[in-house]
Amino acid sequence: MFLPPQMQQINSAIAHHANVDLYVLRLDLIHPWVNGNKWFKLKYNLLEAKQKNCPTLLTFGGAYSNHIYATAAAGNLFGFRTIGVIRGEERLPLNPTLSFAVQQGMQLVYLNRETYRQRYTIALREYLRQCFGEVFIIPEGGCNLNGVRGCTEIINTAEFDTICVACGTATTLAGIALSLHEGQRAIAFPVLKNGAFLAQEIDSLLTNYLASGLPVPNNPGSWELVCDYHFGGYAKVNNELLTFTQQFKAAHGIPLDYVYTAKMFYGVMDLLQQGFFAQGVPQRGCRRHRLLLLHTGGLQGNVGMEERLQTFSST
Ligand SMILES: *Cc1c(COP(=O)(O)O)cnc(C)c1O
Repeated sequence: MFLPPQMQQINSAIAHHANVDLYVLRLDLIHPWVNGNKWFKLKYNLLEAKQKNCPTLLTFGGAYSNHIYATAAAGNLFGFRTIGVIRGEERLPLNPTLSFAVQQGMQLVYLNRETYRQRYTIALREYLRQCFGEVFIIPEGGCNLNGVRGCTEIINTAEFDTICVACGTATTLAGIALSLHEGQRAIAFPVLKNGAFLAQEIDSLLTNYLASGLPVPNNPGSWELVCDYHFGGYAKVNNELLTFTQQFKAAHGIPLDYVYTAKMFYGVMDLLQQGFFAQGVPQRGCRRHRLLLLHTGGLQGNVGMEERLQTFSST
């Protein structure tokens, strides 16, 4: 049902001049709907729900959330009832993300921003239980230890020197860090403003994971954050990013999503021009630096983003 992710080499003059071989792992192609890193974050959550005989999944997200989209589709695929708790007021007609979720059988409920902020409190949990009965709760973005565990299965090979990933909650980065081999490093590109706070989140995800007794593929390897490519904040775009995304697709045949992967790929191409990647990494032998970028999916969100951009430009 799920395809193994393809590894694709990118022919880029910029990478070539930087003495770097550039590869992309196409997690966006593993399934038409349940794709990218979101499937890896859901996998062990669904397994735990099944083990606990809990037929209903409940999760949280914004109105354009890739995680809501993937949870609705995965729930439908594996026979769970799904409830999506959406941040903000209901807007009709539903945007493409939410209308897909409803088509997949997801029941939507809306919480205003104030209440949504309290989503992990005991009081709100109790309220949700009164409304929906026993439900298996998956945190926003699939950010829990089951999520990290799934992400340890994304890539496990000594072939690359550096692995880059776009970063929201850092669950994916934590999983990658736990599966690095000797001498490899992971670089996370936060897509939100002031992403440096994520270092603490990553530390605590890793500490909690190691304390949990869940399987650890390798010793946690070295990781770092590059916080300069958020383009003004979460889901913010500018013309430079839009142009880059179009040109990248035209040149390499790879579509990128504006919220996550476009920002990371842009950052990587920029850093390549600065000679960033060969620094600070012991070169093994004299071969070229091998750099892997994770395409974590998220393309469903481009439909809604393009609609919004058109509305802005026509008003
Ligand atoms: C959710 C998402 C991310 C961020 O993953 P985290 O584990 O929250 O850091 C990256 N890329 C895409 C396309 C996503 O949808």
